[in-house]
Amino acid sequence: MKIHEFQGKEIFRRYGIPVPDGEIATTPDEAQKIAEKLGGKLVVKAQIHAGGRGKGSLTKAAEIHGVKVVTEAKDARAHAQALLGNALHTHQTGPEGQVVRRVLIERATDIAKEYYVGLVLDRETARVTFIASTEGGMEIEKVAAEMPEKILRLGVDPATGVQAFHGRKLAYGLGFTGDTANKAAKLLAKLYQVFIDTDASLVEINPLVLTKSGDVIALDAKVNFDDNAMTRHPELLALRDVEEEDTRERAAKDAELSYVALDGNIGCLVNGAGLAMSTMDIIKYVGGEPANFLDVGGGATAAQVTTAFKIILQDPKVKAILVNIFGGIAKCDVIASGIITAAKEVGLKMPLIVRLEGTNVELGKKLLGESGLSITPANDMLDAAKKAVKAAGGGK
Ligand code: GDP
Ligand code: MN
Repeated sequence: MKIHEFQGKEIFRRYGIPVPDGEIATTPDEAQKIAEKLGGKLVVKAQIHAGGRGKGSLTKAAEIHGVKVVTEAKDARAHAQALLGNALHTHQTGPEGQVVRRVLIERATDIAKEYYVGLVLDRETARVTFIASTEGGMEIEKVAAEMPEKILRLGVDPATGVQAFHGRKLAYGLGFTGDTANKAAKLLAKLYQVFIDTDASLVEINPLVLTKSGDVIALDAKVNFDDNAMTRHPELLALRDVEEEDTRERAAKDAELSYVALDGNIGCLVNGAGLAMSTMDIIKYVGGEPANFLDVGGGATAAQVTTAFKIILQDPKVKAILVNIFGGIAKCDVIASGIITAAKEVGLKMPLIVRLEGTNVELGKKLLGESGLSITPANDMLDAAKKAVKAAGGGK
């Protein structure tokens, strides 16, 4: 689960991680009031669940960016007015952009140097791991690709948790010295505590800055939580902003389906995560590209299958649909009725390839055959994948 920068900064504040003073505004009037209250040089920052806002710009006005330094309250108001209600386009939003519903008005910082620090779970070492770089403000993926030597990594043993030496090692590694090294080291230890306490999957400060007056502060905040841990954090779940979520992923979540949108053109509807993974593999094996991962679950109902179908069809990239079902707990006839209902409801026109196997398979096939729908049956997974790739107009 993602949250906004201002929410991440509120968490940082509670842990004693220095962040600039600031408040959130939803109207130009509020922006002006906050700006007058804070006074001096300010930054107006669009709040969307995507990075790259500084370089990003309004879809309808390329000269208006998502982060702007201003010197007067009236300019803060004007920039808030320009952003609010309009779509901001960044390299992370997709071509249609994301509508700005809130802006953060902050006291501006005089930057001496920008750094990158982040925490992720390294699955290879099974440790929460610090990533740090002197190349702050840049995308870390780009730094990793172009200057891997500029990236420091440091895993933390879960048995000891974060220790003073972790912070020092990273701070000195980044070139901090003396008092600022102490400040950076302390900040890093607190950041680790945020990660652990909130069951985060990612905590990132880009940029962490050294100010001209010698302070070390978090100028940006990106915090993602592990969805599977949200049941034990009702206070964090309250930070969810459904308006920022992908409409298809949200509909899937609400129907208790696991859905992940991908870049290909073959929509997949599968029961069971393992089968869904191997379906994507076999599509790739025969030269195609899946449009999504979609697991309707072992005990799928006809209603869930209908929802799943609608979600797949909302994706304009989809050129063919592959249904791959192994009827165990979910019986083939139940899935077949779901497919028929959904296909009729949405007036399905694109190629539909179905591979059914397992409990009540004959009944399922009979229902599909008598449905009047144009369905391409497949004998097995490989056959299904080949037919789907061909129907979608690609493949080897
Ligand atoms: P992002 O582009 O979405 O990652 O947004 P950031 O919060 O990281 O801001 C982008 C860039 O704006 C930063 O890398 C800074 O260079 C600049 N910026 C943000 N806040 C300030 C500030 O208070 N003062 C100055 N001078 N620059 C800032
Ligand atoms: Mn940033």
